[in-house]
Amino acid sequence: MIAIVSNEISGYSAGNNNRKHVKNNISKKYRKVIIMRMKYKFDLMYYVKMLFLGIIMSISIQANAAQANAEVQKNVDLIVQGRYVVTMDPENPVIENGAVAVKGGVIVAVGRSDDITAHYTASKTVTGKDRILLPGLINGHTHTAMVMFRGMADDLAFMTWLKEYIFPMEGQFVDPEFIEVGMNLACLEMIRGGTTSFVDMYFYPEKGAEVIESCGLRAIMAAPAIDFPSPGFKGWDDSHGAAVSFVKNYKSKSGRVIAGFGPHSPYTVSPEHLGQVSDAALALDAPISIHLAEDRAELAQIKERYDSTPIVHVEGLGLFRNKVIAAHVVHLTAAEIKILAKQKVGVIHNPTSNMKTAAGVSPVPEMLKQGVRMGLGTDGAASNNDLNMWEEIRLAALLHKGVNYDPTVMSAPTVLRMATIGGAEAVGLDHLVGDIVVGKRADLIQMDLTGAHMTPLYDVISHLVYAVSGSDVVTTIVDGHILMENGKILTLDTEKVRAKANALAGRITQALKDANK
Ligand SMILES: [Zn+2]
Repeated sequence: MIAIVSNEISGYSAGNNNRKHVKNNISKKYRKVIIMRMKYKFDLMYYVKMLFLGIIMSISIQANAAQANAEVQKNVDLIVQGRYVVTMDPENPVIENGAVAVKGGVIVAVGRSDDITAHYTASKTVTGKDRILLPGLINGHTHTAMVMFRGMADDLAFMTWLKEYIFPMEGQFVDPEFIEVGMNLACLEMIRGGTTSFVDMYFYPEKGAEVIESCGLRAIMAAPAIDFPSPGFKGWDDSHGAAVSFVKNYKSKSGRVIAGFGPHSPYTVSPEHLGQVSDAALALDAPISIHLAEDRAELAQIKERYDSTPIVHVEGLGLFRNKVIAAHVVHLTAAEIKILAKQKVGVIHNPTSNMKTAAGVSPVPEMLKQGVRMGLGTDGAASNNDLNMWEEIRLAALLHKGVNYDPTVMSAPTVLRMATIGGAEAVGLDHLVGDIVVGKRADLIQMDLTGAHMTPLYDVISHLVYAVSGSDVVTTIVDGHILMENGKILTLDTEKVRAKANALAGRITQALKDANK
């Protein structure tokens, strides 16, 4: 445009002999130049304006992008990835190449790994190649310090085992040191095996709570109470009194230990005393863990003493007004299953223990069908003889198929649910843990997928129930804290814990030898 105007002007300057024509011509040319100059001026202004606007927009877009980036790239404490993330959330059960973002111990995001890393930065990332990420397992019934009695009394009838071996050994050996040594060993085993929450029911719960706080796991500690002398107690009054004090003391604390009551069973605690526990638990809003309908001998005793069955007996005492975690529940009628469902009793199935003590086979498929809240447990290591929840998962899936002549009962997803969110519902922890869902506490585990027994993989849930081994657990996280990473336990000194357990076991062995001299 500029070059054309210059040519027009130079043409005019070159002159023309016809004045009128020249005048007209000049006048026309002048007007044209004026118009062109105006146009040029207008266009120049337009382009300057557009350029200015463009610069402003560019700055604005960059600023917005930076702001948006700052908004989406939120800082979190931890990102944990998984080749497969098994969430136990029915709306999003398995995420391939997934990840979880954790802040302040809480799950803040769950999704595809690339989405999570696009939106979150973390000071620590646990990578998930060749790993399954799933919720930590929930052991709904155990007596963890009994790992110190592992393998001491096997192959005995239930009441013989309990009354002639376990109760006397507890009376002789269980003290605060036994609890400390035994529970550290148990925590080591549970962290190694991917158990992140458990319901414990054993002596000196204050000492047990200390160990749980330091090793980093989560637990309901049910303070024991029984009608006859037990470690630290003369009988009911002092054991129940101590249980009430323990629950009151822990009520104000909001940590990983939840205090509860642990009356042993309806055959070792009188109806009057069970009523006392029930009232205290109701007043303090605390859970009750109890052995219930475990063995045929128990049924006979309850029938003889109260002309009743264990479940009807404790229901009549008002126990089910509380959050009750009933362990075993092997012997019951169809009507009693309905009571358990209606009263929202949490039932913990302990397949290994039930088989080992020959207590019988619990009607778990029927209870599930009727809507009973069901979890899984190992029981104490004296009747198992370990705290390996993967074994309970597999046995629960197999045992009921065998005894029912029906391979369709207890599907893999059903059993995995019992060890995770179903177990959390049964013990009353489902508001905190059990599935990988935003808002829940970050209790997570990773399983290694590289073992020959995990290869090939067509169905991740099938592997978790039928193929996996406890030693495949490589990461254990509770409340967003890593307790084990790449198979290395971070919160306990493995060698020291084992050495202390072996030293105590040596003293127990010597004491038993001396007693038999
Ligand atoms: Zn038990």
